[in-house]
Amino acid sequence: MKKTLIIANWKMNPSNTTQAKVLFDEVAKVLKDVKKAKVVICPPFPYLSIINNQLSLIKLGAQDCFWEESGSFTGEISLSMLKDLGCKYVIIGHSERRQFLNETDRMVNKKIKAALIKNIRPIFCFGESKKDKDQGKTQNVLKKQLENGLRKIIKSDVKKIIFAYEPLWAIGSGKPCSPEEANVIRLFIKKIITQKYSRPIANEIKILYGGSVNSSNVKSFIQQGSFQGVLVGGVSLKPKEFIKLVKNI
Ligand code: PEP
Repeated sequence: MKKTLIIANWKMNPSNTTQAKVLFDEVAKVLKDVKKAKVVICPPFPYLSIINNQLSLIKLGAQDCFWEESGSFTGEISLSMLKDLGCKYVIIGHSERRQFLNETDRMVNKKIKAALIKNIRPIFCFGESKKDKDQGKTQNVLKKQLENGLRKIIKSDVKKIIFAYEPLWAIGSGKPCSPEEANVIRLFIKKIITQKYSRPIANEIKILYGGSVNSSNVKSFIQQGSFQGVLVGGVSLKPKEFIKLVKNI
């Protein structure tokens, strides 16, 4: 049975290590042997080392990385460092980084390639803004983000990428995309991958939805929307609600 992938993005929360440990332990003690889902928790960098997931099915992910291996890059974190801390996944190109830190498609592409080299699975985030959507530009914007993000990535590697469609207007707004609308986008993503690679590859890749997912709507994205998983922000900080979400898939 293929497991549904649930990625928890804690963003810049909670505010200290004690709270981070409490949050993780609360979730892990219930979800440590959950069968239907694969849960990946992506805490802020300083908490990666205090979250001990050795005996759990919960996997660890980071929220960003840098593409260089080492050197004079003040403030950056390499993939080797993330690997050393037990990260199996890394979120790349989240809209908040694109918006607040001017992260470009080119940088996203470099980070994805560096993660693939280190065998850490990239969670490649992309999505359109409200303005793009209102102007009918959604597909053009997504096509550009996908093509630029996947530049010079070969067939055998693209299968390792987890694609996360996150419409900006749905993130943190409490107004998710409808599963029907999200499914149209999922099929569009597959079309782009088919054109760039092949149909078998498009059928193999994992595509997630993210944006105001909660315990009541998660099932609709997996069942009606046919997504292979979800990326969860706000709800991942509420242990009871997050556990309910994972159990409701
Ligand atoms: C996100 O930021 O990736 C996200 C999906 O957030 P939220 O679930 O809060 O909309």
